[in-house]
Parts: sequence; structure tokens; C-alpha cells
Amino acid sequence: MAYQKLAGEQKVPPLTCPMDKSFLYPNLTDQDQLYLYCLECSYKNYMGLEMYEKVEKYVEKYHGKQESS
Ligand SMILES: [Zn+2]
Repeated sequence: MAYQKLAGEQKVPPLTCPMDKSFLYPNLTDQDQLYLYCLECSYKNYMGLEMYEKVEKYVEKYHGKQESS
């Protein structure tokens, strides 16, 4: 996802698991709710709306409006 790329380019804060500091992978639920997922311990973090909008703005700014494929 675009956010990962942006995080790699340090345009957005890195997202790490509070349990083991592993990288969190952004994902979407069937309801288009954004959440972060840790592959190591299955930790899930449902992002607050504020964070969600922040991510959306970054994505739009650097990649244009998101088109669902
Ligand atoms: Zn973890």
C-alpha cells in the first residue's frame, strides 16, 4: 500500500508494534476501515479518524486520489 512506501521515504511517521517494535502493515477491513496489523504477534491497531485522515491526505498528496482497484 502507498502508506508503506511513504513511511519508507519517511514522509509519514513509521508505524511500529508497541509489543515487539515490528513494522505494522496497513490493511483495510471489508468496511474500508483502516487498521494496522503486526505479522509477528497479530497485534491490531484500529487507527483513529484523525490518523486515518492524515494518512489519506498524504496518499492523496503524493499519489492522487485513491482509486479502488
Ligand atoms: Zn507485534
